[in-house]
Amino acid sequence: RSSAASDVYKRQDAITAAYSGFGHAARAPLVQLGPNHHLLELFHGPTLAFKDFAMQLIGQLSQKALGRRGEQVTIVGATSGDTGSAAIEAFRGLDAANVFILFPNGRVSDVQRRQMTTPTESNVHAIAMEGTFDTCQAMLKDMFNDFKFRDGVKLAGVNSINWARVLAQVVYYFSSATSLGAPHRKVSFTVPTGNFGDIFAGYLAHKMGLPIAQLVIATNQNDILHRCISRNDHTTRPLEQSLAPSMDIMISSNFERLLFDLYDRDGAVITQLMADAKVGSMQLTESALTLAQQLFSSYRCDDKGM
Ligand SMILES: *Cc1c(COP(=O)(O)O)cnc(C)c1O
Repeated sequence: RSSAASDVYKRQDAITAAYSGFGHAARAPLVQLGPNHHLLELFHGPTLAFKDFAMQLIGQLSQKALGRRGEQVTIVGATSGDTGSAAIEAFRGLDAANVFILFPNGRVSDVQRRQMTTPTESNVHAIAMEGTFDTCQAMLKDMFNDFKFRDGVKLAGVNSINWARVLAQVVYYFSSATSLGAPHRKVSFTVPTGNFGDIFAGYLAHKMGLPIAQLVIATNQNDILHRCISRNDHTTRPLEQSLAPSMDIMISSNFERLLFDLYDRDGAVITQLMADAKVGSMQLTESALTLAQQLFSSYRCDDKGM
C-alpha cells in the first residue's frame, strides 16, 4: 500500500473508533415528528451531549497525529458540564494527552460531575473550583498567557471555538439533509444555541453547497442572538441561569465568525464591533443584518416555555 493510501486507511480507523461508542447504529438518527418535521437525535454518544460527535473524533485524530510524532500535549478546558464530560470521555486512556478540566464546584449537574470525576484512567483529571464558570475560564486564560508554562507543558485547548470541533459537526447536517432528499429538496434546521458553534457548522454546510433553506437560532431567556437577528439589538444583559447551562452565554465566540463573513472578511470592522459588544452593545449595518436574515431567523423560549 502507498503511504497516501495507508494514511486514508488510518483515518478511517480513527473515525470507526471515534463513533464505536455510540448507542445507535445510525449515530445521528432522524425521528419523524410530523409531516416534514423531524428531530435529529444527537444524544447517542457516550456522554449524551452532541459534543461527543466532535470530541470523540478529536481524541482519536490527536492520538494518531501526536503518536506518530512521539509527542504529548496537555489539554485544559473550563466547563459548565457538557464540554468537560465529553472531553474526558474522549481522551481517557489515550497516552498522547493529559487532560485537566476545571468546573465550578456545585454548579454542574450530578450526572456530569460523575461523568467527569469517576473515570480512573491516569491521564484525565477533573478539578472542582470555588467560583463560577467564569472563574474557571479566567484561570485558563492565565495559563495560556503564561508563555513559559504554556510551551513547557505544550498546552492545548478544546473550547467551542476549536476549529476541529466545528468542522466535525458539519457532517450531520449533510447526512440528515441528504436522507431527507437533499440536494433535490431544501431542508431547514432549528438549532439550540449557546456559543454559536453547532449552528455555525450548519452555516458552513450551507457554504459548502448543501441547500439549506433556513437556519433558526433557538435561544432561551439569554436571548441576545434572537434580539440581534430579529431587531438588531445586541445589548448585553446580566446572564440568567437556566435549565440549559450550555445555552447561558452572552457574547458568542463563533458568532464573530459569521459577522466576519457578513462584513466581507473585514477584520478591522469586526474588531471594532466586538469591542462595542463587550462594553454593552453592538449595532449591525442594515446590509449585514439583511444578509444574515436571508439565511438565519431566530426564536426564544425560556424555562417556562414562554
Ligand atoms: C453545547 C450545547 C449547546 C450549545 O451549543 P453551541 O455550539 O455552543 O451553540 C446547546 N445545548 C446543549 C445540550 C449543548 O451541549
